[in-house]
Amino acid sequence: MEPQLETLPPVPGPAQHLAGVPELSAAWEHQVAARRAESAKVTHLLAYRDRCAARVVGEPAVVRAEADKAAIRDAATMVGLSERLTTTVLNLAGFARQTLPCMWGAFTEGLVDLPRVRKVAEAAVPELNQQAMRELDVRAAEEAALRRTGDFHRWLTRFTAELDPEAYATTCERAVQDRYVRFQNNPNGMSYLEAYLPTLEAAAIQKRLRAAARGLDSPPAHDPYATQHTVDAAAHPDTGDNPAAGDGRTLPQREADLLAAWLRDGRVYTAPVEAKIMVMVPEATLTGESEEPGVAADRSWRVSAGQVRALARDPQAEHQWYQGRVRRNRKEADFDLLSARYVGRYPPQRLRDALIFRDGACQAPGCTLAAERCDIDHQQPWHTGGETTAENLWALCRRHHRMKSHGHLSPPRRHIPAKSPPRSGMIMASMNWPPTPITVVH
Ligand SMILES: [Zn+2]
Repeated sequence: MEPQLETLPPVPGPAQHLAGVPELSAAWEHQVAARRAESAKVTHLLAYRDRCAARVVGEPAVVRAEADKAAIRDAATMVGLSERLTTTVLNLAGFARQTLPCMWGAFTEGLVDLPRVRKVAEAAVPELNQQAMRELDVRAAEEAALRRTGDFHRWLTRFTAELDPEAYATTCERAVQDRYVRFQNNPNGMSYLEAYLPTLEAAAIQKRLRAAARGLDSPPAHDPYATQHTVDAAAHPDTGDNPAAGDGRTLPQREADLLAAWLRDGRVYTAPVEAKIMVMVPEATLTGESEEPGVAADRSWRVSAGQVRALARDPQAEHQWYQGRVRRNRKEADFDLLSARYVGRYPPQRLRDALIFRDGACQAPGCTLAAERCDIDHQQPWHTGGETTAENLWALCRRHHRMKSHGHLSPPRRHIPAKSPPRSGMIMASMNWPPTPITVVH
């Protein structure tokens, strides 16, 4: 049945050029109808919970708590979800309805979905003051309607950290108390290993794992895999990627095998592996004048001011410093990597680093794959005269790189700066941290 909508909100900006496509605009109508139906469902469940609570007003707390649990049980039974999940959803939705009127309004109009409402409600930590809460509500409602899920989560992470740096630092301190490791066994002989860790630790583990899995391509002679591997660095010259050499395992499979081996017996052989973390830090944070947090080069995570200063002070970490666009005294500035023209097809490593900081993520609209894992592509191809300059280069993930090669993705006519380029006064640092040489298990 076609949805009967009184008013259909316009297709959001990034999709407007597709509004005339009949199948896609029909899909948009159904999407709006589905979100409206979801908001109506949640509203009814909240109303039931409220009605049950009204019956026991004035009773002792324990009586009210039990009545609430029973209301949740009934709601969970009706919609076929666990009581735990129903509690979470109704708590966050109830909070959003009361405290985030713009976000709740966008949900009831069908402009945003429930997962986005939940994310914003989770981000609205109690440490935020009233004005910050209002600002979060207004901006999040606008951005949630325009951005794709992953992109929106990243925006929210950045925005909440900048909104109130002190509240953010307090939230980080509180959150670190909740760290855990959890195992979940699946019926197919496989299990999930889940760990909730400080992001800096997780980023270091991720980088080392990835580097070590790639490093297996040219291991020391006693590595049991050695004979099966071939070096294939030419396969993806733009990235130096070498995802599936020799032994037939994919990169994710090798990462899984390595992690299991590291955790299982801890035996190691010495093979230095880089765990390069790339962070952008406001200058004032480094000098201690500001508590504004640092941000990962791909804009996907934040690190509190205290943590980033500790990292910057660490005499053993190998730092490489780059600087943002403007500096009062240009004589202190290094050579400007982004304005130079390079000889040859492949950009040098320092320019690659600079482009990773500039672009952050794949430059295809809506894509959030970290630039560090992207190809550095010539917008105008090298063989047709395209130059190796920052202006002509951009980060594209493999999927979007292929799409461009097949003519389904056009580079902007003139280079559009990265989605959120580093601000002036931002210091970019790539750090090998922790500095101890990594050792690979076999
Ligand atoms: Zn992409």
